[in-house]
Amino acid sequence: MSMTAELISVGTELLLGNIVNTNAAFLAQECAKLGLSVYYQTTVGDNPGRLKAAVEQALERSDVVILSGGLGPTQDDLTKEITAEAFGMKLVEDDHTRERIQAYFDARGTKKIAENNWKQAMVPEGAVVVDNDNGTAPGLILEKDGKTAILLPGPPGELIPMFQKDIFPWLHQRQPETIVSEMVKLCGIGESSAEMMIADLIAAQSNPTIATYAKTGEVHLRVTARAEDEESAKRMMAPVLKELKVRFGNHIYTMDEHVSLEDAVVGLLQEQGLTVTTVESCTGGLIAGRLVNVPGVSEVFKQGFVTYSNKAKRKLVGVKKTTLREFGAVSDKTAREMARGAVLVTGADAAVAVTGIAGPDGGTEEKPVGLVYIAAAVRGQTYVQECHFTGNRAKIRESTVAAALTLLRRAVLETAGN
Ligand code: ATP
Ligand code: MG
Repeated sequence: MSMTAELISVGTELLLGNIVNTNAAFLAQECAKLGLSVYYQTTVGDNPGRLKAAVEQALERSDVVILSGGLGPTQDDLTKEITAEAFGMKLVEDDHTRERIQAYFDARGTKKIAENNWKQAMVPEGAVVVDNDNGTAPGLILEKDGKTAILLPGPPGELIPMFQKDIFPWLHQRQPETIVSEMVKLCGIGESSAEMMIADLIAAQSNPTIATYAKTGEVHLRVTARAEDEESAKRMMAPVLKELKVRFGNHIYTMDEHVSLEDAVVGLLQEQGLTVTTVESCTGGLIAGRLVNVPGVSEVFKQGFVTYSNKAKRKLVGVKKTTLREFGAVSDKTAREMARGAVLVTGADAAVAVTGIAGPDGGTEEKPVGLVYIAAAVRGQTYVQECHFTGNRAKIRESTVAAALTLLRRAVLETAGN
């Protein structure tokens, strides 16, 4: 049985949206790593009554309650007082913290320490005091009747190092189970198709679990296992990962969380010793931009074109005047000629070209907004794909980039060995 944890973020600033709650995101991720189940996150203002109610409710339903913020020296900092009250503990002075606060100000050359700072040396009787290496307010761990409250300072520069150094190991001891997860990243397949292909696995899952996430032009599958140690978790995941490989085959572009689609495409080009060029109309350079995200891309990418006008398409990559007249700039034939022309002009081994209508204007009944043709020319073969994207201009352009990288990848894979 895994322990449950719950987060309470304290601060009126958070409620007003003046600051973004990055602490909750950080803490939730850390809890997941620890194998703690987080079922609730609450944000509450600097209000004694509502904070007390939030703490009491959290202690009722969760094993561990992690509070952040409101540990400072000022009047509105109430977290410690309220939580101590909920645990029935009184505040006593902690000599060690008093000395640490003194040393903190001495180190900064502060002669006169404001009186309210000493409030931070008051701790709930019996609490574990956790030193703050980057500020004055200590972290606190309160335990009673099987319930734990962990109080952390609000500033991320204090909270994060404190959590990593002391709180994580403390929690890890209490919760020896770990959670390990692996990411399987797919391209060239929609989220619903991907889900359908593994509906049986998802229905049958308990440990490991599979979760799907849709990204523009991609689907990510996270496989997560819970076990007493990392090795056993990995062992439990292996058959699931193997099955996903069988089902998705070449749609899987990586099984490494840190590898992006452009990383994978550039890696593939490097592996096969191919250079590539880009010819972009509606994306206006975004494909080149994605490729250049990858360090070391210069080995495979030397130049690209932005051919927005018809004239540019003709002059730079040799699209035929008759093609543009008969079929239009947004057509299968134009995309094909853009890609082939770019290979001829540059001498690159491969080219990827896009032409489409990103909107909001310029669509017709025959050629609506979102219609995009993508061509990839590799090793004398040209692949063309007609796409119908939805969304605003930015979304359509972003979708086009992902689809272009995906088609290029497919063309390279399918022509390998030719
Ligand atoms: P201080 O001693 O600075 O008063 P504190 O523990 O009392 O610290 P708060 O007063 O609640 O914490 O917040 C101090 C600052 O920390 C905020 O102004 C904000 O910059 C940052 N902060 C607080 N809570 C969060 C949060 N949940 N996410 C990100 N930043 C936060
Ligand atoms: Mg404060």
